[in-house]
Parts: sequence; structure tokens; C-alpha cells
Amino acid sequence: ESKRKGRNRFEYYNAALDERSDVLFNLLQQLRPAVLHNKLAVYYQPLIALETGKVCAMEALVRWPQEDGSLIFPDQFIPVAESSGLINQLGAFVLTEACEYCAYQHSIGNKYLSVAVNLSFSQFRDNSLPGIVKSALQKSGLPAVSLELELTESILADDHGNIRKQLEHIKQLGVQFSIDDFGTGYSNLNYLRAFNAGKLKIDKIFITTLGIDQKHETLVSAIINMAKSLDMQVVAEGVENEAAKAKLVELGCDIGQGYLWSKPIPKHEFDVLLNS
Ligand code: C2E
Ligand code: MG
Ligand code: MG
Ligand code: MG
Repeated sequence: ESKRKGRNRFEYYNAALDERSDVLFNLLQQLRPAVLHNKLAVYYQPLIALETGKVCAMEALVRWPQEDGSLIFPDQFIPVAESSGLINQLGAFVLTEACEYCAYQHSIGNKYLSVAVNLSFSQFRDNSLPGIVKSALQKSGLPAVSLELELTESILADDHGNIRKQLEHIKQLGVQFSIDDFGTGYSNLNYLRAFNAGKLKIDKIFITTLGIDQKHETLVSAIINMAKSLDMQVVAEGVENEAAKAKLVELGCDIGQGYLWSKPIPKHEFDVLLNS
């Protein structure tokens, strides 16, 4: 009897697993043609210089538009792309789109604008990334200094040499780097200093309640001071209200990003935002 129970439990577990892998399989079946036929969309969110209140940069964030007009968000499909090898094509598409849109902004006089693109750990798997970055810059004509690549602490923490070699190669093109989601991973502070990224982005979990709740204030203040001592600009992501913004200004943060100013928007809306 106990054996039967055990077997039932096993079968139940298996069924749940199957269902989950079915969902992922279906997602992948639809994602593949969407990526291959450039059906993904790139949205842009402004970064605001807190001292002037002006847009200084934008972050490119990928979305997957559906037939019914809805969007699938990256947290849903980036992991699928990563584990299936589609991430390289997806990444190349976002890089090219982002560089082309930023180059367009430069061509109409907004030469101060830079564009940030997120990178996944798995985009470093096959050594193709430096070539992909180079060709996005060449195709668009965007100056390398106007492109910023966002890396997480875990990418930087990988010390297998292979990732670092590719990062050095990309750095030599003149591209800028920022450290994304800072505070959620674990950092090799020594390497963080040596890597010399231009910006440190404090993760939104520390920012959204700032100015309302004192919980994260000391931590945010310490991160800002650390970044300054490493000569990095500090970006706070997830700024949703005036209270958080005021606190960030008080703590000496350089740049803000969040719903307070704008959600990520398609480029025709970004054109309007820049001119308003
Ligand atoms: P991320 O790089 O940390 O991007 C910031 C995320 O915070 C974005 O979510 C953005 O929409 C959201 N956000 C911005 N302001 C606020 C705010 O005030 N409040 C709140 N609650 N959220 C805010 P999104 O667009 O859903 O992207 C999620 C993550 O997916 C990104 O996090 C990034 O890691 C990844 N991702 C997005 N696009 C790409 C891409 O092209 N390639 C790769 N490899 N990853 C991407
Ligand atoms: Mg980012
Ligand atoms: Mg990110
Ligand atoms: Mg983040």
C-alpha cells in the first residue's frame, strides 16, 4: 500500500514537471520565429540627470508583442532564450535596434544621448559577443562611447577568464559599461574597482520605498559613497515617487530611472518625450 502511494506521488510529480516543460516548449516554439523574423520590439526608458532634471540616456528593454496587442515581458522569455541558444540572435537584434535608434537621435541633434543595452551571462558562451557589438556599431554609425552595456555582478564575478577576455575586447572598442542590479548579487569588489565601469545601478528593491521607509537608506547611502570613491556615476532604478527622488538627491545620487519620469515606451513615444 505504501509502495503504491509512493508510486502515485511519483507519477503526480512527473505530470507536473511535464506540464511545466510543455509550457516552456510551447513558448520556445513561438519565440523562435519571432526572434528570427525580428518580431520583437525594443522599448526605451529615460535616465534622468538629477541635477538638471534632463534626460541623459535611455535603456533599451525588449518586449514581445502578441497578436492581440498585449506584450510579453522579458522576465518571461529571456530565460527561455538563454537556455535555448536563441539569446545570441535576440541580443544582436536588440543591440542593432538600440544603436540605430540612438544614431537617429544623434542625427537630429541629440548627440548627448547614450543608449544602454542589457547583457545576459549566456551571451558570453561562444565568444561571438565582441563581433556582434562591433557590427551593431558599424551598421548604425553610432560612436562607441554612446553605447553602454549593462552587466550584472554575476557576470563580473565569473573569473574563468573567457568572459573577462571578451569584456576587454569590447572595452577596446570604446564602449561604456554599467553594473546593473547592484546589491542583489555578490561582488568581487576588487575586480569591480579594476573593471572600471562608468556607472553603478542600484537595484530597484532598495529604491522603491526610499523616503517612505528608512529600511534601505543606510545601505543606499553606503553604495553611493562607495561608487563615488571608485569614480563611478550612480544610477537609482525604480524611482516611483517624489519622496524617493528627494532622498536620492539628498544622498548625492547622480541619475534616476523609474516610473516617476516614464515607463519604458516605444520609440515614437520616446521622440515625443525628448521634445517635451
Ligand atoms: P533591468 O535591466 O534591471 O531593467 C529594469 C527593469 O525595471 C525593467 O523591467 C523596467 O521596466 C523596470 N522598471 C523601471 N522603472 C521602474 C519603476 O519605477 N518601478 C518598477 N517596479 N519597475 C521599474 P523589464 O523591462 O520588465 O525588464 C526586466 C529585466 O529583463 C531587465 O531588468 C533585464 O535584466 C532583462 N532584459 C530586458 N531587456 C533585455 C535584453 O534586451 N536583453 C537581456 N539580456 N535582458 C533584458
Ligand atoms: Mg538594465
Ligand atoms: Mg539587467
Ligand atoms: Mg535592474
